[in-house]
Amino acid sequence: MTTGTNWAGNLTYGASELHEPRSIDELIEIVRAAPRLRALGSRHSFNTIADTDGAQVSVAALPAVVEVDQDARAVTVSAGLRYGELVERLDQQGWALPNLASLPHISVAGAVATGTHGSGDRNGSLASAVAAMQMVRVDGELVDVRRGDDDFDAMVVSLGRVGVLTSVTLDVVPTFEVRQDVFEHLPWSALEENLDTITASAYSVSMFTDWSASGPHQVWLKSQAGGAAPTELFGATPAEHGVHPLPGVSAEFTTQQLGRSGPWWDRLPHFRLGYTPSDGEELQTEYLVPRTHALEAIAAVRALAPLVQPLLLVSEIRTIAADTLWLSPSHSTDCVALHFTWRLDVPAVTAFLPTLDDALAPFAARPHWGKLFETTPERLLAAYPRLPDFADLVARVDPDGRFANDLTDAWLRP
Ligand SMILES: Cc1cc2nc3c(=O)[nH]c(=O)nc-3n(C[C@H](O)[C@H](O)[C@H](O)COP(=O)(O)OP(=O)(O)OC[C@H]3O[C@@H](n4cnc5c(N)ncnc54)[C@H](O)[C@@H]3O)c2cc1C
Repeated sequence: MTTGTNWAGNLTYGASELHEPRSIDELIEIVRAAPRLRALGSRHSFNTIADTDGAQVSVAALPAVVEVDQDARAVTVSAGLRYGELVERLDQQGWALPNLASLPHISVAGAVATGTHGSGDRNGSLASAVAAMQMVRVDGELVDVRRGDDDFDAMVVSLGRVGVLTSVTLDVVPTFEVRQDVFEHLPWSALEENLDTITASAYSVSMFTDWSASGPHQVWLKSQAGGAAPTELFGATPAEHGVHPLPGVSAEFTTQQLGRSGPWWDRLPHFRLGYTPSDGEELQTEYLVPRTHALEAIAAVRALAPLVQPLLLVSEIRTIAADTLWLSPSHSTDCVALHFTWRLDVPAVTAFLPTLDDALAPFAARPHWGKLFETTPERLLAAYPRLPDFADLVARVDPDGRFANDLTDAWLRP
């Protein structure tokens, strides 16, 4: 028996059973009874982070809640909702989330647990918008934690180790419109000389590249409506029709471009709900490096281009603001993220990952917890100095390791 595969299909879960409770009481019973349990989100992680040799539990069937508290400027949502399922309901009430990832298909709890992020110099990770959480702890107790509580900063990017989230309260801002403009063919020299200006040129900026000598083939600018987009971007020119980051793939799968304003939820992600995001046949890896090392890290990957390119579908370069969450890849420092969408060739990509890690290690690069990477315990500790503190917390709240799996054990108890 198996509970199926992850979204990319590169993993068949080893879990023997998938529980899908319809009430919190039912969830509590499941947590109390299961010797080993992992929460499962929308299955979009590429590694075994959501897997277990016990049972999985999904909270997607709990009653859907989207409840705005206008005074607190916050929305409480059921943890298993996908962002795409809540954004329009929020917008209809006049509110927005500060940012979204490249796709709206992922669950709130799953995204928050791995420190998932979008882009924008002043935009923190999606986890940084978490103001409070309700969860079932390993002892079956239903608890609420909120920003400012002891251990809150430890518990948000949790890798699924602290409790099974039932609801998440997120900061909201007044709804806003976004226009999306794509520029093509940015020379590397322009990026090297003007990186900070380019990433500051819109609310959210993403650059796509295959690391070829000519430079990023696309720069996506997501600007808060009102401002005019530049007609030229350091040598890059406006795209004349909608594009997909992957050459040859229809722009129908992507959010509206060509400078047409629209709701935040329909422009901040690159990909549209209801369509396959990205390629679909792929693996992913991502490292976040402190902004001070951005150009060196980009140069290091460019030097690997002959090895990267045969494995690659596309790379994305974006920025994330610092937050205070212990295991967040953007903990305490503004970051530039270097993302790799690989071909679905598990042996070849797996063989290359240590080389990529070697190249980025000098820059205190932090791997994305939900994507594929091969590093050493020493490097992981250098990148995430609060790991031992988090391991201590986990030992306190889950002394028997019932919410652990092999991967989290390797990270927390190397
Ligand atoms: C096409 C594609 C595009 C992507 N784009 C981005 C991007 O733009 N930015 C980015 O940062 N990442 C991106 N990712 C990675 C993705 O955001 C993360 O892997 C995210 O964690 C997936 O969330 P999920 O709901 O699928 O969770 P899963 O992969 O199912 O689980 C991830 C973790 O969340 C935990 N979890 C799930 N539900 C709960 C719960 N109720 N309580 C406690 N823990 C829980 C699991 O135990 C596990 O540890 C992308 C992935 C794909 C496939």
